[in-house]
Amino acid sequence: MRFQALRRSVIRTGLDGLCAVRAGEVFGAQTRGMGAILMFHHVREPSSAAFRPNSHLEITPAYLTAVVRRVRELGMDIVDLDEAARRLAAPASSRRFVVLTFDDGYRNNLTEAFPVLKAEGAPFTLYVATGLVDGTAAPWWDVVGEIVARSSRIRVTIGGHPLERPTESCSQKERAVDALIAALIAVPEDEQRQAVEKAARDHGVDIGAMLREAMMDWDEIARLAADPLVTIGGHTVGHYALSRLPEPRAQQEIEASSARIEAMTGIRPRHFAYPYGSADTAGKREFSLAREAGFATAVTTRRGVLYPGHADRLTELPRISVNGDYQRLRYLDLLLSGVPYAIERRINRLRGRAAASASI
Ligand SMILES: [Zn+2]
Repeated sequence: MRFQALRRSVIRTGLDGLCAVRAGEVFGAQTRGMGAILMFHHVREPSSAAFRPNSHLEITPAYLTAVVRRVRELGMDIVDLDEAARRLAAPASSRRFVVLTFDDGYRNNLTEAFPVLKAEGAPFTLYVATGLVDGTAAPWWDVVGEIVARSSRIRVTIGGHPLERPTESCSQKERAVDALIAALIAVPEDEQRQAVEKAARDHGVDIGAMLREAMMDWDEIARLAADPLVTIGGHTVGHYALSRLPEPRAQQEIEASSARIEAMTGIRPRHFAYPYGSADTAGKREFSLAREAGFATAVTTRRGVLYPGHADRLTELPRISVNGDYQRLRYLDLLLSGVPYAIERRINRLRGRAAASASI
């Protein structure tokens, strides 16, 4: 079994096990905290293709409606990020809340998500990577999927190493995507982009055309920005892993994206999302950069719910990914209970202790 598929089935088994013992209801009162920030990417109907390499990054409009209604049924408010920051600072007097966030600037956020959220009166934030809108950066994870989807064999060079794979069957395509991603995230950011651009050219993929179809243009973003339900946040220009850039360049990525959003919408962003947002791509240095850039909040993709202590760490907020491979409200209930994250923290602590005693 492919690693990703194995990982998915292990996670699903774990989540189902916790649902079966009603862990969220039993322990949630101690672990659920004050609320959560949910993370989405694409909102659209699934394609009928057997090979859907980024299916975890897409949910259906119907599931988005269900999520909004479920959050409110659970007695939680859907609020914007400024209100979330206020509530974190005043835990005693605040109702529990959820913030809805969408990364990158996909057009289906306008055509599919916005009608749902407008009808439900739910505020939300779009984190826009300005280079993806301006056509100066590539969503390389989508480009890789497209290259593999349309080829029966791929030949690429990454970091000076040739990588060649058959990509005829669906399982061959899935294995090839895993191999390409593993190779691409192991090389420096600029090398990664050059390798993807060359691979796209060699396999007949037009990145510009992909961007024009998939990403919103500035007119569309400005239209959304003018709606009182919508907050536009920064997400850098080139969607690079900031920790892998020299500090001045990381700073420039943040500053230039804010300036561009302000120029095109008339509103300077007050909120920010680190590209990728994992511990190895956004750490202490990046948290400081976001603070110094004047952002009121900045979100990571570190998993978890929000506690009062986050009021002192507003540029390192965790999020819950609403994963397209698990579109079930029982999973949402469980994740919002905070129980899986409390278990994860406990396991990490035990691992840390085991590692410490092993090294003595
Ligand atoms: Zn992103």
